[in-house]
Amino acid sequence: MDINQNKIWTVIDIINWGSDFFRSKGIESPRLCIELLLCRVLNFERIDIYLQHDKPMTKPELDLLHSFVKRKADREPIQYIIGKAQFYGLEFEVNKHVLIPRPETEILVDESLKIIEKYSNPKILDIGTGCGNITISIAKNSVDSSILAIDKSIEAINVAKNNSEKLGVKNILFKMIDILQNIPNEKFDIIISNPPYIKHKDYVKLMPEVLRYEPPDALTDNKDGLTFYRRYAEIFPDMLNNRGKFILEIGYDQSEIIGEHFFKAGFKCDFIEDFNKIKRICIGIKN
Ligand code: GLN
Repeated sequence: MDINQNKIWTVIDIINWGSDFFRSKGIESPRLCIELLLCRVLNFERIDIYLQHDKPMTKPELDLLHSFVKRKADREPIQYIIGKAQFYGLEFEVNKHVLIPRPETEILVDESLKIIEKYSNPKILDIGTGCGNITISIAKNSVDSSILAIDKSIEAINVAKNNSEKLGVKNILFKMIDILQNIPNEKFDIIISNPPYIKHKDYVKLMPEVLRYEPPDALTDNKDGLTFYRRYAEIFPDMLNNRGKFILEIGYDQSEIIGEHFFKAGFKCDFIEDFNKIKRICIGIKN
């Protein structure tokens, strides 16, 4: 990177330079990237970039921007650099200990809310809460629910707790539990989870942004991608109340086999497709 520190750089100069630089490095959405980094450095909203396009950058601002641009050129996801990600219209703090929320997962929230609204004071469990994106989006839209959100990672729990405080949510209890080893000793009306479902074979082929920076345990079971669903089929019969339901995110080729596992465990499953017509959400009810 060759920002000449002696020349005066304005906001628009940086945008033009950064877009070209990221494009030359093969970074996706180069202009958006430099704008987001600039906003973080200058504490700007996006609109301020246009309102203050001729503002000269100070030396400390240029230095900070320089370090961010370098991280992005090394393929670090923008959300980790700026420390936040958008999900379900809310802003979540994220760091390298948690997965960056994906747009498909908003479908899981939508479908969960449709089911939850038919219950009064439902007891809900979120397994593998990560930054708390699912559980907090649900809590915000279903204030009479009481939610237990668990994760095996204490770092993830801390991020999720922080997010729930910042977003003013009061009906979630966070606990460190590894669902493959233990189960909460209470029953639930609804269980929700977006577990690590990518099979090892597919995981190793993911883009460097994901492979080098996101926590592997949040993405893959290092096996066939079905470890968590097999475990769920084993433990959900005892963890759900009568008429209880579960709502899970699943991988692109997993609906049939997951349906079979749950059928053997006494559940009937329905599937909801994502934007690419892939069966992405599995909704189960006791048969
Ligand atoms: N619950 C979080 C999400 O859906 C994290 C899921 C995970 O780490 N597998 O984005």
